[in-house]
Amino acid sequence: MAQAKADIALIGLAVMGQNLILNMDSKGFVVCAYNRTVAKVEEFLKNEAKGTKIIGATSLEDMVAKLKKPRKVMLLVKAGSAVDEFVRKLVPLLDKGDIIIDGGNSQYIDTQRWCKELASSGVLYVGMGVSGGEDGARYGPSLMPGGHAAAWPHVKPIFQAICAKANNEPCCDWVGEDGAGHFVKMVHNGIEYGDMQLICEAYNLMKDVLGMEQGEMAEVFEEWNKGELDSFLIEISRDILKFKDSDGKYLLPKICDTAGQKGTGKWTGIAALEYGVPVTLIGEAVFARCLSALKDERVKASKVLPGSTTKFSGDKKQFLEHLRKALYASKLISYAQGFMLLREAAKSNQWNLNYGSIALMWRGGCIIRSAFLGNIKDAFTKNPQLTNLLLDPYFCERISGSQQSLRQVVAQTALVGVPAPAFSAALAFYDGYRSAVLPANMLQAQRDYFGAHTYELITKPGEFVHTNWTGHG
Ligand code: NAP
Repeated sequence: MAQAKADIALIGLAVMGQNLILNMDSKGFVVCAYNRTVAKVEEFLKNEAKGTKIIGATSLEDMVAKLKKPRKVMLLVKAGSAVDEFVRKLVPLLDKGDIIIDGGNSQYIDTQRWCKELASSGVLYVGMGVSGGEDGARYGPSLMPGGHAAAWPHVKPIFQAICAKANNEPCCDWVGEDGAGHFVKMVHNGIEYGDMQLICEAYNLMKDVLGMEQGEMAEVFEEWNKGELDSFLIEISRDILKFKDSDGKYLLPKICDTAGQKGTGKWTGIAALEYGVPVTLIGEAVFARCLSALKDERVKASKVLPGSTTKFSGDKKQFLEHLRKALYASKLISYAQGFMLLREAAKSNQWNLNYGSIALMWRGGCIIRSAFLGNIKDAFTKNPQLTNLLLDPYFCERISGSQQSLRQVVAQTALVGVPAPAFSAALAFYDGYRSAVLPANMLQAQRDYFGAHTYELITKPGEFVHTNWTGHG
């Protein structure tokens, strides 16, 4: 009988799993490592884990026997069927009160399904979003756990020890019931898509509207990173712009301009449509990747479809300042949309989400980490019932001071014919959201005209009527 000495087991010895194990070990926890291809356990123990307290297992039974109770087993394997297979094999080996944690990029509905399915078995299930890539996993990721709340006191000491810290506060807290953790991680990834697209557009405008040289662009990003745009993504974009290949030339222009997507941005878009929330900027960011992938078609179209004959004739310095403010405004709008989606999903699923704590979880360790998230945390801490970030007094003032610049940028891109889908989507949403009256009256009339769908009169709320628009019987 193996001696039960491990605090937690981790299954999945690919890049994320190995780094998270080393992180846990460095914080004093004894971890038992396991992997589907068992030979990788031995390899890991001999190499990366050499000289640590990490132990290995040769089978799931062996692994379970080495765990202290309540047993904690974390999965960091490919999302989907790999998770399902492991959970099915693990449950018969575990006791009531033992905990399974899925740390992969699983869909929140899968986590919801497992929480429901395991409820009667007494095995506790946690779906945890993990962000920060390889480095984050090793030195402090952002962790977003949700699921069976009874598991939290048992896993909290481990996860809050290994996660990133922002102003000494852990970037990990209990998110909510069933799939809430994975939902929050999905929205995080969607926001990441939006932030990245906005930066790509800013770079493109510097290049194709202002005709700037790359070193100069890097300096602008360097400056931006000192102010309200201070973030990991601006910082790495600066470094990418500066980076020169072995031939002394910039590497960036040599990289093929077609982007792929793994799915979490798309899932956010799908969730936005399902919950009926206008998360337009993330949607545009996903579509921009899809458009980039149509390289052959774009090359053909570039030869036949005319663009604009207007050239930029404004003041470069002034436009760069508009661009900085437009980026800030659009980012704020994108986060406001993301939190709108969280609020709607929370309502539908009866999750009691703490938005300030979610902002804090994203404040450090993850790809969207930024100073700005500190302000978002403050806004929700001041008013947990805040309906929309744009209505928070601080952010209302910030958007008031930058929306005019967003208009300048979007207008200029339209005039010179350089695409800026995310900036444009941000402005369209902003103007729609602040409109007391929208043209949906025409839409309702059209629906009633062709489909007798009825409409509501402003003077008689709640009363739905139909009009015979053509006079024909
Ligand atoms: P990965 O490439 O997504 O997955 C590899 C691991 O999954 C290996 O341990 C592999 O075992 C196992 N696996 C694959 N198919 C399996 C199956 N059918 N049955 C059982 N095991 C199976 O690894 P990763 O990049 O480290 O990511 C792990 C999880 O974290 C994923 O869900 C990923 O989306 C998520 N994540 C990744 C990152 C990142 O930056 N990479 C960041 C955040 C979250 P074998 O060795 O036997 O093939």
